[in-house]
Amino acid sequence: MQKTIEIEVAVIGGATAGLAAALTLGRCMRNAIVFDTGSPRNKPAAHAHNFFTRDGTPPSELLRIAREQLVLYPSVQVEQAAILSAAAENGRFILQADNGHTYRAQRVVIATGVKDDLPAIPGVAELWGSKLFHCPYCHGWEVKDLPVALFGSGEMAYEFTRLLYQLNKDLVICTNGPAAFTKEQLQSLARRHIKVLEEKVAKVEDAPGGIQITFSDGTVLHKSAAYVKTSLVYHTELAVQLGCELTEQGSIKVNGLYETSVAGVLAAGDVSGSTPHQVSAAAASGHMAGAMCNNGLAKEAFEEQ
Ligand SMILES: Cc1cc2nc3c(=O)[nH]c(=O)nc-3n(C[C@H](O)[C@H](O)[C@H](O)COP(=O)(O)OP(=O)(O)OC[C@H]3O[C@@H](n4cnc5c(N)ncnc54)[C@H](O)[C@@H]3O)c2cc1C
Repeated sequence: MQKTIEIEVAVIGGATAGLAAALTLGRCMRNAIVFDTGSPRNKPAAHAHNFFTRDGTPPSELLRIAREQLVLYPSVQVEQAAILSAAAENGRFILQADNGHTYRAQRVVIATGVKDDLPAIPGVAELWGSKLFHCPYCHGWEVKDLPVALFGSGEMAYEFTRLLYQLNKDLVICTNGPAAFTKEQLQSLARRHIKVLEEKVAKVEDAPGGIQITFSDGTVLHKSAAYVKTSLVYHTELAVQLGCELTEQGSIKVNGLYETSVAGVLAAGDVSGSTPHQVSAAAASGHMAGAMCNNGLAKEAFEEQ
């Protein structure tokens, strides 16, 4: 039977940022539900690196521990459900879930993450997270000093190359079409023996010890791994429905306390543009968003008495 369920806080997205918010809310005895569809951004990766005290732990294990620790706080539940739509009505936020129920919340934390928009090259999606990486802070150590490729072009790719070069001197850039580097950038890359290959990439495949990149002219390149410059798609549909402002980059606009432009709606993790886009920042922002929900509710209750 479909029900309307009253809650204090709805946390939409139950990976790092959402579960961090939930922990804070649980410890404050807030009646909260975390809604999650089970697709965290780092799901394809075997290990999460660069996370204080948990370097190299599988992402799924981090989330399992987070959920296990929430069990101690009975006011918080985790629901395996998607929130399909959100609206503001008479000081409450009305959320429709795909489990058929409607939730009326006093506060909402949006922690829905981002999607990496991968280049449409056969093989990229399959190797994403295992041999194709997005970030040297997450995976750089594992492939340091090895021959790597970078898929990308233009200013962002040049900036990224400067970062990668510290760990990988044997570096080739596959622009998958005409390169968008300036003359000065090309000269700078050439001085460091960084080749720029403009040939279209036909496919990328798993190979012993690394990957095989096949170009449309039939030439083949073997590398230990590659980095891919992706564009990010922020999961902001629900924030937009609630009237939240977005940034130029497309993330949900928040202040230093992770409050959005709509009172009572907070955002945390990658979708809020928390930087760097990493697990530690997602956890910290989730904690702050949870605390700010509690602060607001506590103050309101105090003044009403
Ligand atoms: C391949 C890869 C490897 C990475 N490796 C590392 C690493 O080693 N170290 C590191 O620090 N960072 C790493 N990152 C970055 C890290 O994954 C993100 O910074 C982190 O996952 C952000 O956490 P989040 O909670 O904001 O979002 P996410 O982890 O993306 O979680 C969002 C959650 O919200 C759920 N959701 C979305 N919409 C809805 C909805 N409408 N209703 C209900 N649930 C919803 C999703 O299913 C998901 O579970 C990696 C990223 C990638 C792509």
